[in-house]
Amino acid sequence: GCTASDVVAAIKAVADVVAEHKVELTQLDRAIGDADHGENLNRGFTAVLAALDGATPETPSAVLKTVATTLISKVGGAAGPLYGTAFLRAATATAKSDELDAAAVVAALTAALEGVVARGKAEPGDKTMVDALEPAVRASSAAADDGGDVAAVLRAAADAAASGAEATIPLVARKGRASYLGERSAGHLDPGARSSSLLLRALADVAA
Ligand code: ADP
Ligand code: MG
Ligand code: MG
Repeated sequence: GCTASDVVAAIKAVADVVAEHKVELTQLDRAIGDADHGENLNRGFTAVLAALDGATPETPSAVLKTVATTLISKVGGAAGPLYGTAFLRAATATAKSDELDAAAVVAALTAALEGVVARGKAEPGDKTMVDALEPAVRASSAAADDGGDVAAVLRAAADAAASGAEATIPLVARKGRASYLGERSAGHLDPGARSSSLLLRALADVAA
């Protein structure tokens, strides 16, 4: 299973991917938002790296909680509180485990999605990060039911999130800033769905 230091390594990989895709995410947000999604996430995960450098949390849950509190305090806009809530729920869902097995990873992803939905009230099809996360959770759960290990579960989640994100392109946004554009939001990839897909791909690549 994944220990606290495995989870730290995974979060560092996420921070690297966010930095690599900062401009892309901001460009996506320029088309249907306010051109800050890449900057927002990069600011958040840069602060997360600093927080993890200062103190090494002892359990996977404590690592996830550090990520959550840092994102909530450092990232403005919609995505900071939404991702912060996702990591906070994942921390709570894994509070009893010193190591995360496939079932614990599914529980963490499920709780993360529930947190995003509780906070943002988006439904599948509203052209948000939920359109990447919801199919990811379903696919991860199916992979675990098939006996998949952590790597298989995360690969299934990342694959489904990538498809889910691409499927936001024709949608009309019903939540967040993009919804102000109405029909003009169609024809563009949702930045938050793209970042969710990138985060899950980074986790899957580390676990592979
Ligand atoms: P802001 O729109 O406040 O500038 P960001 O640009 O960082 O924040 O994040 C925008 C992304 O947040 C969107 O692309 C969308 O995926 C996601 N988002 C916005 N509102 C919601 C919501 N209510 N529920 C889920 N996701 C949302
Ligand atoms: Mg924005
Ligand atoms: Mg903004």
